[in-house]
Amino acid sequence: MSVLVTGGAGYIGSHTVVELLNTGNDVIVVDNFSNSNPESLFRISEITGKDFKVYNLSILDREGLEKIFLDNNIQAVIHFAGLKAVGESVEQPLKYYINNISGTLILCEVMQKYEVKKLVFSSSATVYGLPKALPISEDFPLNATNPYGRSKLIVEEILEDLFNSDKEWSISILRYFNPIGAHESGKIGEDPIGVPNNLLPFITKVAAGELKELKVFGGDYPTKDGTGVRDYIHVVDLAMGHIKALEKILFTKGVHIYNLGTGSGYSVLQIIASFEKTCGKTIPYTIGERRPGDVSACYANPLKAKSELNWSTMRGIEEMCADSWRWQLNSKKDYKKIKTIFAEMENPYLLKSKRDFLL
Ligand code: NAD
Ligand code: UDP
Repeated sequence: MSVLVTGGAGYIGSHTVVELLNTGNDVIVVDNFSNSNPESLFRISEITGKDFKVYNLSILDREGLEKIFLDNNIQAVIHFAGLKAVGESVEQPLKYYINNISGTLILCEVMQKYEVKKLVFSSSATVYGLPKALPISEDFPLNATNPYGRSKLIVEEILEDLFNSDKEWSISILRYFNPIGAHESGKIGEDPIGVPNNLLPFITKVAAGELKELKVFGGDYPTKDGTGVRDYIHVVDLAMGHIKALEKILFTKGVHIYNLGTGSGYSVLQIIASFEKTCGKTIPYTIGERRPGDVSACYANPLKAKSELNWSTMRGIEEMCADSWRWQLNSKKDYKKIKTIFAEMENPYLLKSKRDFLL
């Protein structure tokens, strides 16, 4: 199948492109590299030994997007492109609503025009807000607490409306819990710009000596050790979930919503301990104030995805930490240089070899 992947150079997108190529799909990536680097795409090519087409374009560019649909026989879309920093979304809500909501509206309009009505959408467990109970099932009440979460919730509702207006659509909404880890090759992984907001990238940078110490946000939650509990999921397991979701929408119509999580919760202190074991170093930390807006605990009931998609996670917390650490040790070579050179290349670029650029 020929699959358009928006945001395919990003963290989850790049791992999903690997799995799509490994399962025999043709992939076309569209990304504006606002939060990623084209180097990840070359690394995907190295991992899989496969070529694919890349468009350096924003999904807000309707004309550009239409040209992609005209020039390629796209059968389905996996839509990762979006901004994801909660704090930034509070400071710049319009930027988030334009990119995440208008971007999706434009994408869906173009898909409708070109009769491509199969879509997998990246949503988030943040749409549950403060959950009424644990573990969290898909039918729990929804309540976003910040502009980022609201952008996801609004898009979910838009997609429901779209299907209600045209029953030919087939849509999978995937609510991710906390993706961490990296590809086992150490070639691709999460590459946040600046100081990371999320726990694992912060810990890896402390372990690598790039940051001094971790601040644990809150030690007085009603959890096993007082620190926040989350459902951490290996990004490769998450990527596999997209392959299963794609298979599902090939043969069914409707809107299908799935939690993608492991079903187990780990506290911040448990994650620190596991990471220390992996890297053989002590992670200095202090316990500070709670971070505003954080919930004490959040983990999935993953049974719907298991029964309907035949998907469940395979990788445990040790593997997640080990792969994050390998990525931290291997990651950064050539990154900056490639971004500058790539900006000057023709669009689309058929991704074959990085040597084309560097010679
Ligand atoms: P990421 O930032 O690494 O990847 C997103 C990609 O989309 C980046 O490559 C970015 O350059 C691109 N992009 C952003 N706006 C674009 C636009 N207008 N046009 C074209 N490309 C654009 O983030 P990720 O962690 O891979 O997340 C992927 C998706 O999953 C996002 O929609 C995010 O909100 C959602 N999600 C992520 C998490 C998480 O913890 N990582 C959790 C739940 C949901
Ligand atoms: N956390 C922390 N220090 C940090 C970053 C995160 O203690 O520097 C905690 C946070 O309070 C939460 C957990 O780690 O309990 C996961 O946070 P993350 O931001 O990675 O995910 P989210 O809160 O979005 O689920």
